[in-house]
Amino acid sequence: MKSTSSIGRRAFLGRAGVLASVAGSLEALHAAAKPGARPKNIIFMVADGMSPSVLPMAEQFSWLVRGKGMLWRALIDRPEAARALMDMASLSSVVTDSSAASSSWGSGARIFNGWVNMLPDGTALTPIASVSRDAGRRVGLVTTTTVTHATPAGFAAVQRDRGGEDEIAQQYQKRVDVVLGGGRQSFEAATRKDKRDLVGQFRGDGFTPVLSRDELLRLKAGGVQKLVGLFAPGMIPFTLDRNNSAELQRTVPTLAEMATAALAVLESSPKGFLLQVEGGRVDHAAHANDAASQMWEMLAFDDAIEAALRFAERHPETLLVITADHGNSNPGIGGKWAEWNSPSNGFKMLARARSSFSQIQPKLMGKGKADTAQIKDLVREACGFEFTSDEVEAVRAAAAGTKKLCLNSRLDKLAGIMGQAVGNHTGIGWVSTDHTSDYVLLTALGPGRERFAGQIRNTRCFENMVDLMGSKFRNPSMSPERARTFLRAAVEHPGAPHWV
Ligand SMILES: [Zn+2]
Repeated sequence: MKSTSSIGRRAFLGRAGVLASVAGSLEALHAAAKPGARPKNIIFMVADGMSPSVLPMAEQFSWLVRGKGMLWRALIDRPEAARALMDMASLSSVVTDSSAASSSWGSGARIFNGWVNMLPDGTALTPIASVSRDAGRRVGLVTTTTVTHATPAGFAAVQRDRGGEDEIAQQYQKRVDVVLGGGRQSFEAATRKDKRDLVGQFRGDGFTPVLSRDELLRLKAGGVQKLVGLFAPGMIPFTLDRNNSAELQRTVPTLAEMATAALAVLESSPKGFLLQVEGGRVDHAAHANDAASQMWEMLAFDDAIEAALRFAERHPETLLVITADHGNSNPGIGGKWAEWNSPSNGFKMLARARSSFSQIQPKLMGKGKADTAQIKDLVREACGFEFTSDEVEAVRAAAAGTKKLCLNSRLDKLAGIMGQAVGNHTGIGWVSTDHTSDYVLLTALGPGRERFAGQIRNTRCFENMVDLMGSKFRNPSMSPERARTFLRAAVEHPGAPHWV
C-alpha cells in the first residue's frame, strides 16, 4: 500500500524536469532501502577522471544542448540518495591512477599506481568479481575504454602491471559473465602477442560474442547467459565524434545501450549480480584538456545513469553507486565569459565543437606538420570557431615540440596549449593535463545506500559491497610505512611508465 507521502513524492517528481522519467525508480528504490536491507544487485558507476568541478559545468552544458539538467546532479538533491565525498589516494601517491583507484574498490586495499589488485610485495589479492561469484552473483563490466583497461580490470583482474591487457583479457574468462566495451585487440589472434583467439575461446566457454552495435541491439537476452561485446579495436570513440559520424552511430553503441544490454543479460541471475559501468573517456578528454569532448562524455554517462535507474524501477532490490575515481586537470569556468546572454558564453562556444582534439592532433603532429593556415582550418572544423593568429602560432609551436610557451610547466605541451587557446574563447581553464588529488563525489541509492555517506575512504566501497553480498571476506593490506620500503625500487626505477 502506498503512503500519501510517497504519492506526494511521485506527483512532485512528475513535474521535476530531468527527474520525471525516473520518478517511479526513485519511489521504488526508496521503498526498498530500509535501513539494514541488503541489495540483490549492485550497479557501480564510474565517471573516470571527473573532477568535482565538471558536474556543475556539465549541468550548464546539458541545459544548453538537451534542454534539461544532469540527472546525477538532480539525484544529489533527493532525499532517496546518500551522499559522500571519497578520498581516493593510492599507496604510492595522494594522486591515484585508475588501476590503483579501481583496485581499492575491487580488493579493499590501497596499492601502488599502475598495479592491479596486488600488494607491493607481490601478494595477489582476491578481486571483488571472485567474491561476487563465490556468493552466487554474476559479474559484468561495461566501459567506453578497452574492457581490459584499468577501471574494469580493478574489479576482476590481478596483475603486476596494468599494461598487460592481453593477460587481463584472459583472466576475465573465468571471473566475468558480461564484458562490453572496446579493446578487441586483446581478444583477437591477429593482434594478441601470443596469437591466441580469445573470442573463440570465450565462445567455447559459453559466451555469446558480439562485435557491432546491431548485433548487440538484436540480442534476445533470454537466451544469453554470458556475453562478450567488443566494439572497437582500442577505445570506444569519443561521444562527440560519434555524434558527428553516421558510420560510428551505426556501428558503435552508446554507454547507455551497453549498460542496458548488460542489465538485460544479468537480470536473470537468480542470486543477483555486480555490474561496473565506466564512462572512461571523461578522463581522456581531461588529459587532452578538451572541454567539449568532456561535456559530451558526461552527457553519455548521465544517460547510462538513467538506464540503470530504469532497471532499478523493475528491480528495486538494487544498490546504485555513482562516483568518480579521481579528479583530472580540474577544469573550471570563470570570468566574464559566464554571462548568460553573451554570444561568447563559454558553453555556447563549446556546443559548436564538431570533433574531439584526438581527431586533429595526429594531423597537427604527423609527418609534414600542418602550417598555420592548415592549423587554422583544422581548429575551425573541430571547435567551430577561429583561433587568433597568436593562438594558432602557439599550437603550431607546441605541436613542433617547442617548450616554454607558458609558465605552467604542466601545461607546456600541445594538449595544454590547445586547452588554453580554447579557454580564451570559452572561459574554461585547466590546472594540468593529469590526475589530481581531489575528493570525488559519490551518490548512492537503494538498499545499502546508508553505508555510503559522509567522508569515506576508497577502500570502504569494497567492504560495503562485500558485506552487502553477505560475505565476511577481507583481503590483506599493507601500511604506508611498510610500502615505502618497496616504493623506491618499484616506482623510481628508470623507465617506469607513467600511468593515466
Ligand atoms: Zn587518467
